[in-house]
Amino acid sequence: MDIKELVGNGFRFKKNLGQNFIGDVNLLKAIVNDAGADEDDTVAEIGAGAGTLTRALAERVKKVVAFEVDEELSDALKKVTEEYPNAEVHFADVLKLKDDEIREWVTEPFKVIANLPYYVTTPMIMRFAESELNVSSMTLMMQKEVADRLTAKEDTENYGAITVALRAIADVEIKRTIDRKMFYPRPNVDSALVKIDFRRDKYGFSDYKIFKRTVKAAFAMRRKTLANNLVSAFGIKKNDAEKLIEKSGFPTNIRGETLSCEDIILLSDNLSELIKG
Ligand code: SAM
Repeated sequence: MDIKELVGNGFRFKKNLGQNFIGDVNLLKAIVNDAGADEDDTVAEIGAGAGTLTRALAERVKKVVAFEVDEELSDALKKVTEEYPNAEVHFADVLKLKDDEIREWVTEPFKVIANLPYYVTTPMIMRFAESELNVSSMTLMMQKEVADRLTAKEDTENYGAITVALRAIADVEIKRTIDRKMFYPRPNVDSALVKIDFRRDKYGFSDYKIFKRTVKAAFAMRRKTLANNLVSAFGIKKNDAEKLIEKSGFPTNIRGETLSCEDIILLSDNLSELIKG
C-alpha cells in the first residue's frame, strides 16, 4: 500500500507523534500472525496512522478498535471504517484514557496490537500491564534496543527494572526484527516486534507494591551493593538488609542486577515480612 497516497497530498508526517508508517502488506500480515490474532479476537490498536495495520487486522479478527491522536488522519481512516464494518476509530490519546473509558469502546478480553511511536513504548506497556483491564497480550513494534532491554538476561548491560517488572507478570518474546527501510518516512533506528503474553498468576506475590519497590531498589545504583540500595530505598538498617539477603540465599555483598526475576520476588516476599513485622 502506498502510504503517501493513503494520507493524501499535503499531509505532513509528524515526527513528534512518531509517525513512521508501514505499507508493506506482507509485513502487516506477519504482525497479525505473530500476535496470534484470529476471528474470535477483539483488538485494540494504538496509533492507527494511515490505517494499514487496521485493515490487516480487520481482515482477520472479529473487531478492531483503533485509537489515533492525529485528527488530520480522519479522511484516510474513514475509508477504512467504511470498507470494514468490524473496524472503528476513536480520536484519543490512549495514555490519557481511563480504564473505564477504554471499556466503553473495547470489549474485554482483548489483545493490544500496535506499531507504537517509539517514545511511548514503556509508558504504554506499563499503562496496560498495571491496569485492571483484561488484556491477554500486547504485540508491539518498538525500537530494537528497547526490545533487547525487555528480553535481556541477568547481569547484562540491558537487564534492568523494566525487564524484571514485566517478566514477573508476562512471558516476553522478540518475534522478528525489522529494518528501518520498511517504514515511511524512514526512522533512524531498526525495530523489533515483541509479544508480551500476560500471565499475571505466574508467581504469587506477597505484595506487588513492595515487589515494585524492591525492583526499583535493586537497579537504583548499579555500582552499589544490593544491601546499600535496600537501606536507601526502604530506610532499613544495613544489618537487617544483610540478614534479609542471607535469608533469601544470596551473599551479602551481591549486586541487584545479578538477581533473576524469581530471586527478586523471593527477596521482596521476605522484605514484606520484615516491613510488616
Ligand atoms: N499503525 C500505523 C502503521 O503501522 O503504519 C501507524 C503507526 S505510527 C508508528 C504511530 C501512530 O500513533 C501515529 O499515527 C501517531 O499519530 C499515533 N499516536 C501517537 N501517540 C499516540 C497516543 N498517545 N495515542 C494514540 N495514538 C497515538
